[in-house]
Amino acid sequence: MADELVLIVEDNEKNRKLVRDVLRYNKYRTVETASAEEGLRLALEQRPDLILMDFQLPGMNGIEALARLRARPETRAIPVIAVTASAMTEEHQQIVAAGFDAMQTKPIRVREFMQVVRDTLARRKGRPE
Ligand code: MN
Repeated sequence: MADELVLIVEDNEKNRKLVRDVLRYNKYRTVETASAEEGLRLALEQRPDLILMDFQLPGMNGIEALARLRARPETRAIPVIAVTASAMTEEHQQIVAAGFDAMQTKPIRVREFMQVVRDTLARRKGRPE
């Protein structure tokens, strides 16, 4: 448990800081970026154990970024949690259909968020790489 590397892809600086602080407090290592393009590069380079992907990003959005991660053997098995500011059902359906491993709605509630992180990492353990 913990010590795992989490890649945070989030363009909102306050949200990025909150997620980073919560994860580090819980002994996870983090790497972060504000863009999906840079996120894809970091995913390949650092092979994180988990990716938190903001749904709405400048340029490439979270769904496109997920598709690109899943298209490459090196990053295909990394679990990805979608983080969305929207409570809109339509967007939630898009997220589920896209194949994200889990979803978190902003504003982040710390206990619930950490539970989703732990559950998603735990599920990955049983999965072949
Ligand atoms: Mn955003």
